[in-house]
Amino acid sequence: MSYQAPIKDMLFVMNELANLDAISALPGCEDATRDTAEAVLEENAKFVSGVIAPLNHAGDKEPSYWHDGQVTTSKGFKEAFRQFGEAGWQGLQHPQEFGGQGLPKLVGTPCVEMLHGANLSFALVALLSDGAIEALLTAGSDAQKATYLAPLVTGKWTGTMNLTEPQAGSDLAAVRTRAEPQGDGTYKVFGTKIFITYGEHDMTENIVHLVLARTPDAPPGVKGISLFIVPKFLVNEDGSLGARNDVQCVSIEHKLGIKASPTAVLQFGDHGGAIGTLVGEENRGLEYMFIMMNAARFGVGMQGIGLAENAYQQAVAFARDRVQSRDVAGSSGPVTIIHHPDVRRMLMSMRAQTEAARALAYVGASYHDIARHHEDEETRAAHHAIYEYLVPVIKGWSTELSENVARDGVQVHGGMGFIEETGAAQHYRDAKILTIYEGTTAIQANDLVGRKTLRDGGKVAQHLIAQVRATGTQLGETEDTAFAAIRQRLEQGAADLEAVVAFVLANAKSDVKAVFAGSVPYLKLAGIVLGGWQMARAALVAQQKLAEGNGDAAFYTAKIATARFFAEHVLVQSGALRAAIVDGHASVLALAEDQF
Ligand SMILES: Cc1cc2nc3c(=O)[nH]c(=O)nc-3n(C[C@H](O)[C@H](O)[C@H](O)COP(=O)(O)OP(=O)(O)OC[C@H]3O[C@@H](n4cnc5c(N)ncnc54)[C@H](O)[C@@H]3O)c2cc1C
Repeated sequence: MSYQAPIKDMLFVMNELANLDAISALPGCEDATRDTAEAVLEENAKFVSGVIAPLNHAGDKEPSYWHDGQVTTSKGFKEAFRQFGEAGWQGLQHPQEFGGQGLPKLVGTPCVEMLHGANLSFALVALLSDGAIEALLTAGSDAQKATYLAPLVTGKWTGTMNLTEPQAGSDLAAVRTRAEPQGDGTYKVFGTKIFITYGEHDMTENIVHLVLARTPDAPPGVKGISLFIVPKFLVNEDGSLGARNDVQCVSIEHKLGIKASPTAVLQFGDHGGAIGTLVGEENRGLEYMFIMMNAARFGVGMQGIGLAENAYQQAVAFARDRVQSRDVAGSSGPVTIIHHPDVRRMLMSMRAQTEAARALAYVGASYHDIARHHEDEETRAAHHAIYEYLVPVIKGWSTELSENVARDGVQVHGGMGFIEETGAAQHYRDAKILTIYEGTTAIQANDLVGRKTLRDGGKVAQHLIAQVRATGTQLGETEDTAFAAIRQRLEQGAADLEAVVAFVLANAKSDVKAVFAGSVPYLKLAGIVLGGWQMARAALVAQQKLAEGNGDAAFYTAKIATARFFAEHVLVQSGALRAAIVDGHASVLALAEDQF
């Protein structure tokens, strides 16, 4: 079964929850009308289901391979990327002056989700180019922009992100790669980078590596890291390709999942030094890389949502088809497994979590658009702060749940789920990387606690909790039992999140380990409460549409039922998470190291 983009739900979320109309009223976003957005989504869906999705399973079976420094990507990838670039999909969200379409993030996000849903391995190359483009747009010089942006935006070249080294994974303070100034504005780069996604491939004629390295006088730690552009082929002044640069792919990894995407070990400078140019100022590299990482972290969150959607679709198709056992309430013979309550529970859980994560991410994208385009500086700053709070939640929570969704997808298939031919197992294997790269869930949670909660004294968190409560009040205005159930769980979730934020603020100085013992549960709690909030908002819109007799009644009743399921089965976990964080921190740290 091939992936079908859930366009109806995507449009519902964009229009009704993320308020596309308000986004298209922003200066510079006028083209993003409902009609345009719908046309873009439909065209993108055709492209990904026709060209990209069919390469997913084949790429898993026949991964990219390395030979003598060259990487040959899985069959069909090169041609598909050519079509992807030529059709303008890489440039969807990027500025028109560099060959992009200049559409807001809210319109680009569903397209990103579709691409990841169709084929995670393929979509990664686009995700990394997006990150490189963002970093150069923000911190690149005019000359760097003129040289690199148009080829990246049009998919003529691709970008990479070179952070990780054998001793420097989560801890980038340990980066050792050296960059020595040559006195002519260039640097020579020496070192080894590992795990570099699409660090080498045959899909484009050039690869633009963005590399973290240290200059000779740099201070130790993260304050001494600079960012460099090191292209695979040097670029002449007229934009044509020059000499091959001194960066070699010495191997690629054999992996649990995302097998078609090459993960490279790159050796810089073994033959005299790889020539690079500094991005922005020396020692500010991590700050610039954070721009790229924030874009990529949001993108990895979308990977989780796309993958979860695909796993869900596949499980539903299997459950409709597989006949096994009688109906527990009685039937003349065996029934399709979708009749069994436990299979329903799994399908509802997969569906509800995917829809909640999608809604939260698209609303996050709309905050990003307001932060970038609104005329009023204060409004921009306020939305930027909310978006920044949401990024680790979108990355961490959506990817953690995608693993659970993919696991349930295997379970729905029974034994066939364990057999590679169905594809359910591939989703499960592919999902595992999402909670690791671009910062593990723990690193997202550290970010949520440190930069996003403590730094502003919990201001953004409390602002969001107040909005959740306002939705709770709206739910109370209807007598429907489904809405009462959603309200009860949502209000309890808001109270639990508020208590945890208060705990974090109260204890960060006096007992920092207690706070960080609960950082990942805090991230999950924020995800389920804010995701549950979006589901509640969706239910309210659906109720309104039903009352107006407006639109697809089956879609809206399903929305309300799914929101209720989310409240009763997912939001209900908020109390347990709160208890684990507030009451359970001591036991996390109770054993001495030698007791393990
Ligand atoms: C397939 C793949 C593709 C990748 N692509 C890229 C890429 O394109 N570019 C790139 O630069 N890197 C890439 N990476 C590297 C990836 O980002 C790192 O693997 C990841 O950040 C984790 O670092 P690590 O592997 O060194 O694990 P470690 O940092 O050693 O972490 C091990 C464990 O310790 C925990 N831990 C570490 N520090 C802390 C802390 N402060 N608080 C709490 N827990 C902590 C982690 O959460 C984890 O559970 C890729 C990795 C893989 C496997």
